[in-house]
Amino acid sequence: MKVTFLGTAAAQPSPTRNHSSLALHLGGDVWLFDCGEATQHQIQKSVVRMGRIEKIFITHTHGDHIFGLIPLLASCMNGAGGTVDSTEDPRTHISMDQPLLEIYGPLGTRAYVRNGMAYSHTLLGRPYVVHELRAPSDPQAGDFTSLTCLPSESPHGRNIPQVNGFWNDIFKDRIVSVSAAPIHHSVPCIGYVVTEAPVPGKIDPKKYIPDLKRTNTPMSAMRRLQQGESVELSDGTVIHGPPRRMGRKVVILGDTYDPSPIIPLAMDADLVIHEATNAHLPGVDETTKDCDTYETVEARARSRGHSTPQMAGAFARAVQGRRLVLNHFSSRYPGDDSEDAVKIMGVIGNLAAKEFGGEVVCAKDLMSLEVGFANHDL
Ligand SMILES: [Zn+2]
Ligand SMILES: [Zn+2]
Repeated sequence: MKVTFLGTAAAQPSPTRNHSSLALHLGGDVWLFDCGEATQHQIQKSVVRMGRIEKIFITHTHGDHIFGLIPLLASCMNGAGGTVDSTEDPRTHISMDQPLLEIYGPLGTRAYVRNGMAYSHTLLGRPYVVHELRAPSDPQAGDFTSLTCLPSESPHGRNIPQVNGFWNDIFKDRIVSVSAAPIHHSVPCIGYVVTEAPVPGKIDPKKYIPDLKRTNTPMSAMRRLQQGESVELSDGTVIHGPPRRMGRKVVILGDTYDPSPIIPLAMDADLVIHEATNAHLPGVDETTKDCDTYETVEARARSRGHSTPQMAGAFARAVQGRRLVLNHFSSRYPGDDSEDAVKIMGVIGNLAAKEFGGEVVCAKDLMSLEVGFANHDL
């Protein structure tokens, strides 16, 4: 399990930070979270393989998080070009039996994609589906647009209602599940929690081999033990595989000035990804105004729906997270390896770490991070 940051800028991109997007690698599969403008260019520069993208989760429909979605879909799914009227384009009748690229997002995501595809005359060679996480105040049915489905869009997109404040298990398979909750921003915004199912514990073959040999048990029993199962030997002894260990948990928040509604889902996260759009950096950031204090900067960030590093640190502490990554930085804070950038990002990281009390990383574009297990010894 690994995260690659594709874009770490707030509203405006800069030469060193692109608009918001990150990729979660799950084995060979890739799930994208947000897809700001030029995300596909960033993917081309990164370790992420476009063809491996299976799901895309949108936190909110602000342009800096969604403007790259339609071009990305077109590139992923053979969306370029077209034919003149007299020549049939096979993409006007595509089979829904192919694997669907799944998109999850708030109300408006489906309408945005459908309208963008329709008015840009984009046909796709593969199907997609849009599932919407509907808030209690949203219409609970319908597509939120009068345009009907295009040939490439599956009509089976779900409208997922919120239950007791959460969207639980919007996706779940044997290996991983995704739940979500609303978080406070200037527009409806969603935080996602990806939880890995318990995984096999570390096995020490030396502990089992003498018993297996003594009772002539086939070595294939080791496979069952590795899965945490118990095996009965021919002499009646029962040996137990190592207990399964907790899977990893990653919390990916969209823009927010208060993500507290997601706290119950986010507890004990191995990795918390939280925005830190604005910081008060007197003596470090030359553009700091004399009249500003931390309080005025925080008040301004909140009024725009955003957070400071200290607010991100306080959230990571509240959920007892193991590691905090900050992203979505103002274009004032460069994201390269220049002396200036290293100094500013170091100070920003420390401001968050003081509140959090744990490890803080300031994201840079194209940076990848492994998500480790809480207890390496198990
Ligand atoms: Zn944003
Ligand atoms: Zn936003």
